[in-house]
Amino acid sequence: MGISIEEARERYRIEREKRLRPDGIRQYKELKGLYEEFDRDPYVEPGFTRDAVVEDTEVVIVGGGFGGMLAAAELTKKGITDYRLVEKAGDFGGTWYWNRYPNAACDVESYVYLPLLEETGYMPTEKYAKAPEIFAYCQMFGRHFDMYPHALFQTEVEAMEWDQSRQRWVVQTSRGDRLSTRYVIIAGGVLHKAKLPGIPGIENYKGRAFHTSRWDYSFTGGSSQGKMDKLANLRVGIIGTGATAVQVVPKLAESAKELYVFQRTAACVGARNNKPTDPEWFKSLKPGWQAERLRNFTMAITGAQPQVDLVDDEWTKMLWHDTKKMPENDEEAAELERIDFENMERIRRRIEDSIDDPHTAELLKPWYGQNCKRPCFHDEYLPAFNRPNVHLVDTDGRGVDQITENGPVVEGIEYPVDLLVFASGFEVTTTYTHRLGFDPKGRQGVSLSEAWSEGPATLHGILARGFPNMFMISTVQGAQATNFVHSISEIVKHVAHVVERCHRENVVEIEPAVDAQEQWFQTLFEKLWGVARYNSTCTPGYLNSEGGGDMKSARAIAWMTSVLGFAEHVEAWRAEGNMVGLETVRS
Ligand code: NDP
Repeated sequence: MGISIEEARERYRIEREKRLRPDGIRQYKELKGLYEEFDRDPYVEPGFTRDAVVEDTEVVIVGGGFGGMLAAAELTKKGITDYRLVEKAGDFGGTWYWNRYPNAACDVESYVYLPLLEETGYMPTEKYAKAPEIFAYCQMFGRHFDMYPHALFQTEVEAMEWDQSRQRWVVQTSRGDRLSTRYVIIAGGVLHKAKLPGIPGIENYKGRAFHTSRWDYSFTGGSSQGKMDKLANLRVGIIGTGATAVQVVPKLAESAKELYVFQRTAACVGARNNKPTDPEWFKSLKPGWQAERLRNFTMAITGAQPQVDLVDDEWTKMLWHDTKKMPENDEEAAELERIDFENMERIRRRIEDSIDDPHTAELLKPWYGQNCKRPCFHDEYLPAFNRPNVHLVDTDGRGVDQITENGPVVEGIEYPVDLLVFASGFEVTTTYTHRLGFDPKGRQGVSLSEAWSEGPATLHGILARGFPNMFMISTVQGAQATNFVHSISEIVKHVAHVVERCHRENVVEIEPAVDAQEQWFQTLFEKLWGVARYNSTCTPGYLNSEGGGDMKSARAIAWMTSVLGFAEHVEAWRAEGNMVGLETVRS
């Protein structure tokens, strides 16, 4: 028997309040510093060295994930090939370099997720491609646009300073490089800085432990798709039940002797229905198909309801109505709440139908609105809990109480494990410079963190006053979308346009005017209300800054409605042609 909307509303409130905590985003710890080896790159041979590079170049790109790669591709297409790309990892790929955990896969359709498929000529093998294929695509992308000779891998930017006398940035790296450059493009990632839960005693654990983005196959055996044979006689614990855990749990379940899943908040898991790509269908697609499909998908999941639903999956079904929009009146508010409730009831019924034990089924039910956490889609996650070796340890919203040298403790019970996996996510709402890992120094040696001490200030999220020629690709006052690559692509298009104009017109300094930055913030702020209203009823998570946030963090908001709106806005700005709001110095 289902429950009423009123009962659900009350249940949502209770579950939210259980989880609110005064330390908010400060509850997490960084990988670095807790255990040094947590942040080690397990995918490269130790001992890499190379000579330092000292050079002068037109552009330095920071980051070799989709943001940095797309920036390099766009610049190349515009004839700007004098660039360097600095990347911490041992190869291109960003999130797909780091996230090699078992079963990792793209959670949105690969035909709209993988960028520039028409240009590279690549056909994804499945509707939802798996991580090794996406990583291989990133490498192919790098080769296609001839990016490898430009890349400095296993290298981190340590400092970046504006040299006014030469009107250039000087970038210094962990390998002693000194890169002097006209323009910098910082594509530091969106979900790239892994975090650990600040559970008391976490540092005391004596077994093997790692974060999902640093999977150690030398310990588990197997590979991203194969069974992890070295776990056959081992007890494994996993902390977290978000989008990552939903993918990992089924593989751990079939590999480990015993698996303990520590749950704070249940995931919302809809059907996946993956299938191989039909080559005939793929061949039949007409030029321009990808841009059209991308647009169509984003319309379908932001309530714009296109005439045809091209992607036609659970994302588009679930988000066909934008239940987090600002309602016009009480009737619309009630209607949006009803739609949201019914979608979540469908998810809850799916759990009842999938789980044999009714008590476990109850514990796995999510009690929050459909936009409170990123929805997950998976066909093997729920059935994994029917296996006798899989144990759900629900913490009733509190999280794991403590970790001893043997393993996690919940309600006084210690769960000894041989391997502890942290599927605890990534920093999203910490400050921009903290996530970057360096603090650019602009005019008069003022750092970005000082300049943004009251919160970020930018034009279009890409340029900040006091930091000439420094372009950012991020969600901070930029675009955001469920399909990250869509928002990143729109930002990159915009950045590449401005960089090319500057390059062509001998602009040696470019930065926004103060009032243009303020106006941009007002434009973003007006779009915040629907989401803010919705989030205020949500259980904590990275989408609502763990249920907290202040005015400073509020200034980091992205364009909260559809990325298509952001794209139209900046396209219109570009079409005007006179770079309104930007101040320039020409040589
Ligand atoms: P999340 O931040 O979504 O999940 C972290 C999990 O850790 C949550 O379940 C959280 O619980 C739990 N947790 C945190 N602290 C504790 C604690 N003290 N005790 C117990 N549990 C705790 O991280 P993910 O890595 O799962 O996903 C991050 C994002 O990465 C996704 O939202 C998605 O955007 C992206 N992603 C994309 C994929 C793709 O295919 N494109 C695949 C996987 C991830 P609580 O909910 O209560 O905070």
